[in-house]
Amino acid sequence: MKKLREIMVKRQIEARGITDRKVLDAMRKVERHKFVPGMQMTRAYDDHPLPIGHGQTISQPYIVALMSELCRLSGNEKVLEIGTGSGYQAAVLSLLAKKVYTIEIVKPLGEKAALRLKELGYTNVIVKIGDGYKGWPEKAPFDVIILTASPPEIPETLINQLADGGILVAPEGDSIQKLVRVTKNNNRIKKEIITYVRFVPMVHGK
Ligand code: SAH
Repeated sequence: MKKLREIMVKRQIEARGITDRKVLDAMRKVERHKFVPGMQMTRAYDDHPLPIGHGQTISQPYIVALMSELCRLSGNEKVLEIGTGSGYQAAVLSLLAKKVYTIEIVKPLGEKAALRLKELGYTNVIVKIGDGYKGWPEKAPFDVIILTASPPEIPETLINQLADGGILVAPEGDSIQKLVRVTKNNNRIKKEIITYVRFVPMVHGK
């Protein structure tokens, strides 16, 4: 599997222009096959998303790497992720930041991811079952916020939980989704459009 990960990093990630050494190293380290259901294991290093149950998917490896690079992490950051899913993106981020808080709305998915992350030794990740639209006010502000489900518009609540100098990376939109990076400096918000993407929708809690 280590060999397959090497090939994945070379052909899917480096070849598409990801250069951040730390991101490439994290993608080499995290055992992606341990984050997908058993029957998908042989496809874990292929160049596409994979089903993880409950109608949800683990993102394509390149997208995980791209979003991680866009976060410009140096190792000291407090990160909030919305959409834990399998826990894979959280595991990658945990190697690049100090602490990762991650929220999942589908209880069984979140519980499974929490257990998996614990078993694999990712001790700086904390999983909460809840609605990402609310963010995690008790732990705010965050240096970086990353959304791995697409809201129609970036929620104001999350922008408010971003620290000054912070970065938010997210898909935005319904049928047409753009990957955006929002930066906050002296309360001024700047938004860059990176590329087009396809994520599952960010749903509202009951
Ligand atoms: N980051 C994940 C992939 C996420 S798929 C991984 O690495 O595997 C998107 C996830 O967002 C799904 O698990 C979905 O249930 C979750 N989600 C959707 N709306 C949400 C919301 N409002 N709050 C939290 N999680 C949400």
